[in-house]
Amino acid sequence: MRHFDFRNGEMYAEDVPLSQIAREVGTPVYVYSSATFERHYKVFSDVFSDVDALVAYSVKANSNIAVLATLAKLGCGADVVSGGELVRALTAGVPASKIVFSGVGKTAEEMRMALKAGIRIFNVESLPELHALNAVAGEMGKSAPIAFRVNPDVSAGGHEKISTGKAENKFGIAWHKAEEAYALAASLPHISVEGVDVHIGSQIDSLDPFARTIDKIGELIGRLRQAGHTIKSFDIGGGLGIPYGDNQKIPPHPSEYGAMVKDATRGLDVELIFEPGRMVSGNSGVLLSKVIYAKETGTRNFLIIDAAMNDLIRPALYDAYHDIEAVTAPGSNFEETEYDVVGPVCETGDTFARGRALPRMQADDLLVFHTAGAYGAAQASQYNTRPLVPEVLVNGERYEVIRERPSIEDILKTEKIPDWLS
Ligand SMILES: *Cc1c(COP(=O)(O)O)cnc(C)c1O
Repeated sequence: MRHFDFRNGEMYAEDVPLSQIAREVGTPVYVYSSATFERHYKVFSDVFSDVDALVAYSVKANSNIAVLATLAKLGCGADVVSGGELVRALTAGVPASKIVFSGVGKTAEEMRMALKAGIRIFNVESLPELHALNAVAGEMGKSAPIAFRVNPDVSAGGHEKISTGKAENKFGIAWHKAEEAYALAASLPHISVEGVDVHIGSQIDSLDPFARTIDKIGELIGRLRQAGHTIKSFDIGGGLGIPYGDNQKIPPHPSEYGAMVKDATRGLDVELIFEPGRMVSGNSGVLLSKVIYAKETGTRNFLIIDAAMNDLIRPALYDAYHDIEAVTAPGSNFEETEYDVVGPVCETGDTFARGRALPRMQADDLLVFHTAGAYGAAQASQYNTRPLVPEVLVNGERYEVIRERPSIEDILKTEKIPDWLS
């Protein structure tokens, strides 16, 4: 359910016409719906309202501080993977006690920041990281609460670039080394063992890999407790898929996921932690773009639009599908055309869709990419010196620019021609 609907033949974000945002802010632009963020967060968190659980939204999916503040107001925590994301979460009002820190390459500086803030838990991914954290905590006279991210060696299906829970992936402690790692952690003076963590991948479209993972981790928790460790939390990570409007399998609904998880973890006596990203933010945003040229080569019809792979890289990076729709609803006798929808960047990979059926369009017509609220703006770059795409948050009849479009001067300001060249 998303709040991007047609009224009188025009697409709105909640109560604001997208054409108004295009006129006032310009294109390309990401447009987010507050109500959709809220709805998706609640759909997920409500399932777990009767058990001990923390929902820590995965900040990397959409890290704008206005988005984080929207979620923080509802009681949502944050899963961060860098010092920068930690500052974002704190700035947005997420209490440190609801922040978990994931990632394979935490630096000593990032550990210091997180210890100073007093975050809930570090999800530690290797023994060198464990030693580094012990040393940093020692210097600060603190004890660092940790879970190991264990690699359960479960294949989650989906695209290989977003699969993380197989033995050959770079993530986590190898399954057969987990107990050794916990024994070492327990022997370190500035480490406090508190839980177990997994994250097996993204855009997962069935419950089975989650169920197998929970089974394996449940057994591990039993063995760890037998060895004398206190295991208070089980972080199941994120990864639940969402429908993108293509012909792929529809992922399970959060309520089915929740029912399975609650059933599978009953009796484990742990606080559950979740790190949903895409599930919360994916459908909450669209990328709004304008046609620059409609170009017919005789072989293909191209729609050359003002958004490009630097604004939304998922199609180029993961062969991802995004539903594309004209912002003005076509009349009843419209002519449908098959378009290759491409951006202006000088790469053949700058192709959003091939042979996509759309109403016939011309220069200045507006279109949207649906389900662009996750891994859209967050992965944008300034490749081809295209200014970073702005972001807008709609709330009912109001909207606010929550990230401005930089000017070319803004971009060049951070660069310098050395003295020896002038
Ligand atoms: C990316 C990531 C998530 C979120 O994944 P989604 O597929 O967006 O739910 C959660 N936890 C970790 C550790 C991640 O790297």
